[in-house]
Amino acid sequence: MAEHPTGARPASAKPTAAAGTGNAPETAAGNFLRNQIEQDLAQGKYLARHWSGQPGPAMQQRTGAPDPARIRTRFPPEPNGYLHIGHAKSICLNFGLARDYGGRCHLRFDDTNPVKEDQEYVDAIIEMVRWLGFSWQDGGEDNLYFASDYFPVIYDFAERLIQAGLAYVDSQSAEQMRANRGTLTEPGTDSPFRNRSADENLRLFREMREGKHAEGTHILRARIDMASPNINLRDPALYRIRFAEHHRSGKTWCIYPMYDYAHPVSDALENITHSICTLEFQDHRPFYDWVLEQLASLGVLDRPLTQQWEFARLNITYAVTSKRKLQQLVTEGHVSGWDDPRMPTLVGLRRRGYTPAALQLFCERIGVSKADSWIDMSILEAALRDDLDARAHRGVAVLDPLRLVIDNFPEEGEEPCSAPVHPHHPEWGKRDFALHRELWIEREDFTETPPKGYFRLFPGSKVRLRYGFVIECTGCDKDAQGNITAVHARYFPDSKSGTPGADTYKVKGNIHWLSARSSLQAEVRLYDRLFAEPHPDAGGKDFLTSLNPDSVRIVQAWVEPSLGQVDKEQSVQFERHGYFVADRIDHLPGKPVFNRSVGLKDSWGKPAA
Ligand code: ATP
Ligand code: MG
Repeated sequence: MAEHPTGARPASAKPTAAAGTGNAPETAAGNFLRNQIEQDLAQGKYLARHWSGQPGPAMQQRTGAPDPARIRTRFPPEPNGYLHIGHAKSICLNFGLARDYGGRCHLRFDDTNPVKEDQEYVDAIIEMVRWLGFSWQDGGEDNLYFASDYFPVIYDFAERLIQAGLAYVDSQSAEQMRANRGTLTEPGTDSPFRNRSADENLRLFREMREGKHAEGTHILRARIDMASPNINLRDPALYRIRFAEHHRSGKTWCIYPMYDYAHPVSDALENITHSICTLEFQDHRPFYDWVLEQLASLGVLDRPLTQQWEFARLNITYAVTSKRKLQQLVTEGHVSGWDDPRMPTLVGLRRRGYTPAALQLFCERIGVSKADSWIDMSILEAALRDDLDARAHRGVAVLDPLRLVIDNFPEEGEEPCSAPVHPHHPEWGKRDFALHRELWIEREDFTETPPKGYFRLFPGSKVRLRYGFVIECTGCDKDAQGNITAVHARYFPDSKSGTPGADTYKVKGNIHWLSARSSLQAEVRLYDRLFAEPHPDAGGKDFLTSLNPDSVRIVQAWVEPSLGQVDKEQSVQFERHGYFVADRIDHLPGKPVFNRSVGLKDSWGKPAA
């Protein structure tokens, strides 16, 4: 069947890889949207608006009190996939502006396309907006809406446009319509059906609604100007026939409004003052304005009308943020699911250990600008580090264990040791653990042949076991293949950390360790960036060719006893390693599972020390 122009939204263009990375965007404190809102408020632009407490046309809103919200914004996801880091930018922006200016932000599902949408996505989106820390329940209002609930009003408005001669039913084939649309340099050609009478248009449109016509046989178009230099104004489609079941309205409708028509109407019904969207919608603004202007002239909407404002979408290096590409990663099994900790989805970031505070901090730092650019992944990682450094409990984990035997330590001896839960919060208390004769250390903390500047263990070297004693390395054991199986050392009983003797030992190396007798085994998932290239999908490249083959490594590690007590989703700093989170699904009491969230410093892409 011939496909009429779809209700799809415009495709976003990626900036080229050469576009600036991390160029100084305007800060959240003073971005152009804030200036605009302040100017609008100073002019008292919205003082005359009324709000009935529910979305609706002018006649309904007029019955309400003056709108208690100084501004209204909305976050309008299409429930056809999981939210990603780009959506977080839009969420923080819209909810943040409403919060800061005495307004309200609505969560509206833009669910006017029946084909790709699903309740599963609705539920997941609601959960993630809440998780990020925002609420649409504010000041006694519950502003959670579905554009599909507006279908009757959107339809009624379409009939009014027809009656006013502002819309017509076009019965050309999809090919004819495409051919008559013109090009960027040539005007379009009027449809032979463009001058149907209002009565005939109304009759046909009602028949479309009643299911009397097959998909693709007719569409409803706005009558604007086939010669407009802006192709979006060449009689754009308003409604198409789709015999599809909708996830909310079921089979009530067999015609569905196009996104570009439903969106301004939905905004207006909700009293939205600032409709904030991404730059690819800029060319659609004239049609957005046209729709609202006509409906205001017809008396079904009141002024001031909603205004659309565009900002640059977030592009982040080493990631893709297109739902289609994310879907492909999931369905082709490149990742374990939408919540794979390597995914830039909010569920993935959450499972990775990202916190709402870190994501809010990130969105604040990148600000909002009007020019597309790439934001470096390291800015996201730094936001997480900055959030967690201040509050994550500390702990010790040995990820690549090698046995250390302190030969002069009594066989059954035990030395109690302790360390602060957080170095800057002595009031949070201490973690207790014991030192025994046999310990675990990191394999990389010992070498037989030290390179220059290596201050850790090698035969003859002295290092401090953190929170314990100074030891001197005496040698190592090897198996038949020459692999090192154990390191030997002797300790200095008067060198214990925190005792007066400690200061007499000056050592350059300071390594972490765990008792082989009392530490716990844990599964640790060492995640890295999913893509090995900063711009995996720039310039139409096949993004799958840039997948990082080493983006996850799972190890059996040892962790200190206190880490057996942490709850799911609790973040900890493994000393010297980075920030880890107890997996929100697989971590169980007695069976700890940790995900690496981010390293201690930005060393990505640099050779391992
Ligand atoms: P995708 O292109 O990944 O399918 P979308 O734009 O179709 O995403 P919507 O559900 O329509 O997804 O998005 C809801 C809101 O989030 C829109 O206002 C959209 O402009 C905004 N948004 C989506 N992606 C980004 C991004 N990368 N940066 C900033 N805002 C975004
Ligand atoms: Mg899109």
